[in-house]
Order: sequence, then C-alpha cells, then structure tokens
Amino acid sequence: MYELAVRGGFAAAHNLRDYKGKCEHIHGHNYIVEAVFECAGLQKNGLGVDFGILKESLNTVLEGLDHKYLNKDVEYFRKNNTSAENIAFYVFGSLEKRVKGAKLVKVGVWESENAKATYSRPCVAAPVTRKKRGRR
Ligand SMILES: [Zn+2]
Repeated sequence: MYELAVRGGFAAAHNLRDYKGKCEHIHGHNYIVEAVFECAGLQKNGLGVDFGILKESLNTVLEGLDHKYLNKDVEYFRKNNTSAENIAFYVFGSLEKRVKGAKLVKVGVWESENAKATYSRPCVAAPVTRKKRGRR
C-alpha cells in the first residue's frame, strides 16, 4: 500500500457560532490543507497517481473557499459551523468526488501553525457478530 499526500492552502474569513470567545467575531486564517490518499498499486511508470492530478483536484476544491467569508459565501457553512473540523469534512466530501485511482483517507486542516483538525471516514465494515453458544 502506498500513501500519497498533497498540500494546498486558502485564505478566508469566518466566525464561530454557538461559541463564546475571540473566535465568535469575524477574523481570518491562512488555512493549510493536507489530503492523504491510499493507492494499492503502481502504474508501469512507478507512479501511484500523479501528484499533479491530486494537487489540481485539491486546489480546485480550495479555490471555492479562497478569499471568501465562509459563513455567508459558501452554502455548506450557512448551516454548519466553520470549525476546522467541519472544513476538513467539507473538503473531504468535495475532494473525494473528484479523484479517481486513489482512495482519499483523510483531510487535515491547519487553522494556524499549532492547530489542526483531521477528518477521516470511519470504517463502515459490519461488526463481527459471534453466535452465542448455548450449554449442551
Ligand atoms: Zn478562526
């Protein structure tokens, strides 16, 4: 298994709802976003998926957030709080639809140098059930 990661960034304004503190007021971040993909095999040329394709896909998603007031300019965030966690979830969902040939496994959003939230899809495999043994 190979793991491929690409980074991108965007600048945006936001404010947190249902939150008491400095971040309830409008302010901005230079967000850094890292997307991690898994790739089971390689092509003949030794590449999993071209980094260029992954970067272009990520940048296309991030362009939709760049220089926006997230709370008002992006439909998803009119109803969902603009936390780094929700931004990671939003980018994951938007990016997953765009990339073929590699499985998106997680998206991390750095809100500052020291604060990051990551979303990864929980495992959806059915839980293992064991038959209860009766006494014989
Ligand atoms: Zn903030």
